[in-house]
Amino acid sequence: MKNHCCLCGDLIDSYGAWDSSHNAAPVATGRCCGECNDTVVIPARIAAFVSFKRLETQRVKKSSSSPLTSTDDGV
Ligand SMILES: [Zn+2]
Repeated sequence: MKNHCCLCGDLIDSYGAWDSSHNAAPVATGRCCGECNDTVVIPARIAAFVSFKRLETQRVKKSSSSPLTSTDDGV
């Protein structure tokens, strides 16, 4: 199976069962090549992870008293 990088459009080779593509999230939905993974996705993921951890910390503080009712609609 051959895939094209969803970021640069290059062909991504597969080696048997191993597919050399990478998950392009959170930059794009799909698979990207190793070069785009290293230069685009990883930096974006680090940035997203940092902001996610900040958000998560705020949420945990807010809802720590009721872990079973984790709905955010306030009902
Ligand atoms: Zn690429």
